[in-house]
Amino acid sequence: MSCVFCRIVAGEIPSTTVVETQATLAFRDVNPIAPTHVLVIPKRHIANASEIGPADGDVLAEMLIVAKSVAAADGIAAAGYRLVFNVGEDSGNTVAHLHLHVIGGRRMGWPPFADG
Ligand code: 5GP
Ligand code: ZN
Repeated sequence: MSCVFCRIVAGEIPSTTVVETQATLAFRDVNPIAPTHVLVIPKRHIANASEIGPADGDVLAEMLIVAKSVAAADGIAAAGYRLVFNVGEDSGNTVAHLHLHVIGGRRMGWPPFADG
């Protein structure tokens, strides 16, 4: 199994779980860009958001509900947070297993381009 996030789901690579549900896992990003930086993934491998189809509706809803739980657990629900799906090369997407970034705990700029 070569997918790094499938290996996290399988317990082959250690990670810090924040929330786990039947179909999803939320764990802390190894290289956080904010006080809260958690990745919410489907346990089942989906490459990225452009691969999603009508049959994935349930797991996507579960991911959003888990993101809300992550925000509550980290105490950032009231202050606000950002949810991000990177898709493809121009976005900087590096891991080819669908993941929703939950980012918060600090003020963030908009637009979000790191290159200005
Ligand atoms: P992307 O740019 O693909 O949307 O984001 C991938 C994220 O996964 C990055 O923020 C990166 O730090 C994180 N990441 C990559 N490998 C690992 C890992 O093995 N463990 C954890 N916890 N996060 C990882
Ligand atoms: Zn995978």
